[in-house]
Amino acid sequence: MSTLSVSSIRSDDFKEAQREAYARDVARLLLHSHDFVEVDCPACRSKRRISAFSKYACQFVNCLDCQTIYMSPRPTPALMDDYYSNSENYRIWKEHIFPASEPARRDHIARPNLDRVIAACQAAGLALPHLVEIGPGFGTFSQLAQQSGFFGSVEVIERNPDMASECLARGLKVHQMALEDFTADHAGRFDVAVCYEVIEHIFDASLFLQTLRSLLRPGGLFILTCPNGLGYDTQMLGPLSPAVDTEHVNLFNPHAMRVLLQSNGFERVNCETPGRLDADIVRRAVLAGETQLDATSLDHHVLVANFATLGAAFQQFIASHGLSGNMHACATRTA
Ligand SMILES: [Zn+2]
Repeated sequence: MSTLSVSSIRSDDFKEAQREAYARDVARLLLHSHDFVEVDCPACRSKRRISAFSKYACQFVNCLDCQTIYMSPRPTPALMDDYYSNSENYRIWKEHIFPASEPARRDHIARPNLDRVIAACQAAGLALPHLVEIGPGFGTFSQLAQQSGFFGSVEVIERNPDMASECLARGLKVHQMALEDFTADHAGRFDVAVCYEVIEHIFDASLFLQTLRSLLRPGGLFILTCPNGLGYDTQMLGPLSPAVDTEHVNLFNPHAMRVLLQSNGFERVNCETPGRLDADIVRRAVLAGETQLDATSLDHHVLVANFATLGAAFQQFIASHGLSGNMHACATRTA
């Protein structure tokens, strides 16, 4: 089994090519910045907010009621579609970075995610549950889920043709269409819906959750992961955090996620932050000179001077107190 580090899931070899491709993607997006639209808080709908920071000329604000960090103004759904359909960065990701990093992602991300889904199903007394994944990307998680034999069926909804064909090649049952087009004919058909690293990209998270909810039978489980805007990396690095980019328009946190799910027809919400990379991300930013830490600070003591002895315990503290940048939530569809 490979060792987990930032470099093992995001190969350095293509960093420069990816950086240039992403810059061109952003430049194309910003040609339409005059069409970006203002939104209220995507978690709690509050209008009360303060400016957080800007990155790539996009403005991020901080909700004063639930502390969600969100982009406003933001690209319209049509601009987002255009962005993802024509992204050069995604092409490099698909052709080079993903294949090189899949073993690490499978072992350290997809497999723990599957273990959590199975544990949640067992706790809910579900036998041979029917599972649907929304936005499976290359299908790593759903392939593992199918191979596990735990589920009665595994289906994926993926509108991107390249990714849908990857999922098909892995033997998955693929619905290549938008979520809203799928739900019309499949209401209440699934026991479990999962959605990994998707909701932070969505223009209207509430609408997305209401649509997704209709796929589930009452009492069905919904499990998702997304970045935590109150995570250590974003709190320490602000706009330098890898969680902050033009695609992540919603950076929720455990409290905000609870509010968002409960207001869209889910209950028994459980949020955890099991991430393991925060300290490594901040440490690398410091060592690369991208940010500075006071040499007498506790952060410097832990991340730079004594990382070998204190790093793992510090990361464990972050993860177990809701402070990791990676958030995992599980909720039940209301009746
Ligand atoms: Zn809010």
